[in-house]
Amino acid sequence: MSPAPLGNRDLMRAHNRSIILNAIKSHGNISRAEIARLTGLSPATVSAITAELIKENLVLEHAEGDSSGGRPPILLRLNPHGGFVVGVKVTEHHLIGALTDLTASVMAKQVVTLPDHTLEDVLAGIAELITRLLHAGGVRKKQLLGVGIGLAGVVDGRQGVLKHSPIFGWSEVPLRDLLQSRLRIPVYVDNDVNTLTLSEKWFGTARTMEDFLVITLGRGVGMGIVVQGQIYRGHGGGAGEFGHIVVDPQGPACACGGRGCLETLIADPGLLRQAQEAWQRGELRQPVGRIEELVALAEAGDEGARRIFARAGELLGLQIANLINIFDPGMVIIGGEGTRNGEWLFAPMRQAIARHVMPGLRNDAEIRIDPWGDDAWARGAASLVLGELFKSPIQHEAIAGSIG
Ligand SMILES: [Zn+2]
Repeated sequence: MSPAPLGNRDLMRAHNRSIILNAIKSHGNISRAEIARLTGLSPATVSAITAELIKENLVLEHAEGDSSGGRPPILLRLNPHGGFVVGVKVTEHHLIGALTDLTASVMAKQVVTLPDHTLEDVLAGIAELITRLLHAGGVRKKQLLGVGIGLAGVVDGRQGVLKHSPIFGWSEVPLRDLLQSRLRIPVYVDNDVNTLTLSEKWFGTARTMEDFLVITLGRGVGMGIVVQGQIYRGHGGGAGEFGHIVVDPQGPACACGGRGCLETLIADPGLLRQAQEAWQRGELRQPVGRIEELVALAEAGDEGARRIFARAGELLGLQIANLINIFDPGMVIIGGEGTRNGEWLFAPMRQAIARHVMPGLRNDAEIRIDPWGDDAWARGAASLVLGELFKSPIQHEAIAGSIG
């Protein structure tokens, strides 16, 4: 939900509130005096704002024994159950939902099958998913702070508009407003790779990182970019189209209308097409219809299958090396269903990265393979709401559209 315009005083108060909430979130048990010292805010401001947070049940206070024998200091900590959020990942055939608490711990998971691809099916499916999640988690609707929706495509996160969906063939759907008027809960919508990137930033392995990349492998290839602690979205919101950088202008046709995009050579459909061609040339022991079968063949010693993964891994590594040379990230997190290809893909990828990254940048980027399940996507969508809770209103303006 777009925040209402705030006056300067309100804006300052909301900004201070975010600073204090974040200090409590990062430090666990902390006294008011310590918050004032860490944040540089006056004791009176800290006292007024923490009183508000305690009243809203977002923060709990408790007395701690003091070894000096003096009055025990009152410590504050985040109340994980001070509110709950729902994250929904929209896929071609399913809606995958997670109910989480304020620390992004998943309390319930549910999946709803999409019978059809009409807008009404998706809206009704999301409503049903939320009802099921609340029931499974024993949470009342009024305890829900919001719903985050992550989906593939071009999304304007600020307006909550799905500008283009390759899966559903929709354009210019005001998804946030449609859902908000139906559910009567704040709704946030963003590109799914960005929601996952946000969850790595707020709650995941990249918590302490200011500059990192998230690359997703699977049906397609996506990328989230974090620069100086913020998602980088580009001038028009479309940054991060790693899957559509052209690596072979004469290569296979891509869904985007181009030819030889990286995705056509290393994403699942591209790997299966290469397997089909290898089988026709007699280079594969047996035909395969699913990626899991191609992995099994590689594991059983099939040279043709190993070659397909090795070529894809080398190409991926070369392009990641190019990204490292441009962004100098502290971490590159690789996740998604494509991690099931395992070392048949990642060993040649690492070799190519080592070969092509410039001297001087080589030791900066830690490469992490993170085999997320589908619930990680839903948790990512939940982080979209949690991020709003912890974010300063000054940062709210940074939210814009995105492509995926
Ligand atoms: Zn393309």
